[in-house]
Amino acid sequence: MSDRRNFLKITGLTAGSMLIGVSVPASEKVVYINSKAAGLGSTMKLKFRPYELQLKHVFTIANNSRTTTPVMLTEIEYDGITGYGEASMPPYLGESHKSVADFLSKVDLTIFKDPFQTEDIISYIDSIAIGNYAAKASLDIALHDLTGKLLQQPWFKLWGLNSSKTPNTSFTIGMDTPEIVKQKVHEAEIFKILKVKLGRDNDKEMISTIRSVTNVPICVDVNQGWKDREMALDMIHWLALQGVVFIEQPMSKHAVEDMAWLTEKSPLPVMADEAVQTVHDVLAVNKVYSGINIKLMKCGGMRNAYKMACMAKTMGMKVMIGCMTETSCAISAAAQLSPLADWADLDGNLLINNDIYDGVKIVDGKVTLSDLPGIGISLR
Ligand code: MG
Repeated sequence: MSDRRNFLKITGLTAGSMLIGVSVPASEKVVYINSKAAGLGSTMKLKFRPYELQLKHVFTIANNSRTTTPVMLTEIEYDGITGYGEASMPPYLGESHKSVADFLSKVDLTIFKDPFQTEDIISYIDSIAIGNYAAKASLDIALHDLTGKLLQQPWFKLWGLNSSKTPNTSFTIGMDTPEIVKQKVHEAEIFKILKVKLGRDNDKEMISTIRSVTNVPICVDVNQGWKDREMALDMIHWLALQGVVFIEQPMSKHAVEDMAWLTEKSPLPVMADEAVQTVHDVLAVNKVYSGINIKLMKCGGMRNAYKMACMAKTMGMKVMIGCMTETSCAISAAAQLSPLADWADLDGNLLINNDIYDGVKIVDGKVTLSDLPGIGISLR
């Protein structure tokens, strides 16, 4: 045994290209020897910088319009390899450049010698403060990108997922006048499923306008906008006849009893979005909704997202993978999980003018993963 130990240590300090996990006695540290970089004693270094995403179109929800989204770009460097991460902070979720910078300033990754102890590292990050899910996601994504690169494999492969099983992504058609809506639908021709935000007084008009120009499936996001469950059920029956395939968060996340009633009677799957944030919430929405919309910025990153997807599938629930306005960094990270999802809503990077990464592609409407390691991105 000690011969083998010595052999591995020597190998690590000389040549070769394998990454080898080596357990050594308690008096020595457990190290991963990246023999290319002679990694003994390496530590992870965290860097971050604020960035402002420029939106192609004014983004309007409820009483709020904006043309930019603040993000924080993170990097974790170890042994000369850099993992990239991102926090996206749409204002209505409460995080900001300042809150994310404050959180990241408290993180000391040098206490971990081994980036592969992901569970310990994520638990440590989670223990720093409650909430701060986008900040946490930026670290989680960078760590996954780093470890995938150290292993020279993309995460969908490390998770054992089949890249040919990625779903089509939906593309959101924003509320507008009928003429503009028709024009937006024409411009979204490559997408095989459209997403429409409902919950105002012109819901049927919006769907009919889209149906006057295309027959592609539609999914509907009500963002808690319907107040009455009988009306909601009537509406879902009508939508089912219009080729709508599922309904996202039709009523308030607090209306648990109404939602369970509606889901049981609904002819279409009903997905939880606002009602489910992270791993701890999945159990509570079983039997209240048909499935969950998982977003990295809500749940704290890829690790929690993967756990949520596995939990939901184990309970027979549907899985959707969604996003905020993000660069190709966070979108590509989410896309690694997408073979597990029934539906994807990963159009956030398509809505901005100043993406600094190349990553996952949408080909004929389908999420299309590359074999690049980690989360599969490169700097533009
Ligand atoms: Mg939603």
